[in-house]
Amino acid sequence: MKINGLKIGVVGGGIGGIAAALALRLRGAQVVVFEQAAELTEVGAGLQISENGMVVLRALNVVNETPEAGLRSYGTVLRDYRSGRSVSEIPAPAAGSTYYYHRADLLGLLHKAAHREGVEFRLGARVAQVRKHSSEAEVVLEDGTNLRVDCAIAADGGRSEIRADLNGPETAKFTHQVAWRATIPWQRRDQKPCAVLTMGPGRHVVTYPLRDHTMMNIVAIEERSDWEEEGWRRRGDPEDLRARFADFGGVVGDILGQVREPHIWALFLRPVAGHWQNGRIALLGDAAHPTLPFMAQGACLALEDAWVLARSFDDQSGIEQAFASYETSRLRRAQRVVAAAGSNARNFHLRGPMRLAAQAALMAVGPRLSRKYDWIYSYDATA
Ligand SMILES: Cc1cc2nc3c(=O)[nH]c(=O)nc-3n(C[C@H](O)[C@H](O)[C@H](O)COP(=O)(O)OP(=O)(O)OC[C@H]3O[C@@H](n4cnc5c(N)ncnc54)[C@H](O)[C@@H]3O)c2cc1C
Repeated sequence: MKINGLKIGVVGGGIGGIAAALALRLRGAQVVVFEQAAELTEVGAGLQISENGMVVLRALNVVNETPEAGLRSYGTVLRDYRSGRSVSEIPAPAAGSTYYYHRADLLGLLHKAAHREGVEFRLGARVAQVRKHSSEAEVVLEDGTNLRVDCAIAADGGRSEIRADLNGPETAKFTHQVAWRATIPWQRRDQKPCAVLTMGPGRHVVTYPLRDHTMMNIVAIEERSDWEEEGWRRRGDPEDLRARFADFGGVVGDILGQVREPHIWALFLRPVAGHWQNGRIALLGDAAHPTLPFMAQGACLALEDAWVLARSFDDQSGIEQAFASYETSRLRRAQRVVAAAGSNARNFHLRGPMRLAAQAALMAVGPRLSRKYDWIYSYDATA
């Protein structure tokens, strides 16, 4: 169908929402993004964007072939927690390099490109509801104003209220995992930047450099039972972080020693949504398929969604058909990636003899491990 002139409302100005707005705008739609925050910000510092996400960023003209704000990764080093000894090295995926971005930088690049193309942004605009009418959708803001659009995209994140309207009430499950996140200033310029994943019993730490090596990003995951509410983030106590990872030695021990202002996320999970759309309103990104961070794929999936959603208008006769085609095209892949991420944490957190056996196995297969996930990285949503 001709998307030219269609008026589309996007709820949420995160990576998924802005990428979708840009992809739709580049095909000729008039797009308005509603973001509840007064300014566009991203919480949590680092983001790994693998090739399946990078192809979309390149196709949207957000980055070029040598993305300046990102650091190209040469792979992942797996280390043991006590000594910091290297257990295995996983080379960069054959499909193409992963890049490390500061979230604010990536969001800034997306916003700049969307703004340049004429996407309209309404900040400090919290959406209370999106109503479906027979031939349009209505975006109702909390301040009582509303906007009639031909259709709406809900990219309002893992705690999406619009998802609940489409799928009924669901309770998020606490995964008994908590993520500590922080950055520290860094000066060491590794010739070949890579992620270091340090594995210990019930815990692991991922570190990688950002912003031309001036910053180190830290994500420390621990298994924990004492969390009750689904809070998105809290300020954490750096001494508490160090106490919980006190037996982590080597470089990661030094890095944790420098953390001043950590934040904590309790990792809650909802299943991939059963219904992604109702003919006028479609879910995208974490709103459709919240995922655990253990494959670093949540933002990459949101980028893929954005491209596929916009393209689905090309081959279909109407909005209902385009949304149905989008859902069908994305469902199976999102389920597979979410499942792969879910099983990864268990592998990193083994204890006792299981851990030693797993390390021996990793030593043997490490170099081939990236091939195991070729199906994730080589997926080209733009093909
Ligand atoms: C510890 C951790 C590490 C991660 N690392 C990676 C990684 O390395 N690589 C990767 O690809 N992914 C990673 N992820 C996942 C990634 O952060 C998310 O999948 C991604 O940010 C989802 O983008 P989104 O646009 O769908 O949602 P969000 O980023 O959550 O954006 C939703 C937006 O909607 C707005 N909003 C919500 N409700 C309303 C409303 N009612 N009205 C208006 N606006 C509203 C919010 O303010 C927000 O700006 C990680 C996640 C975690 C927790």
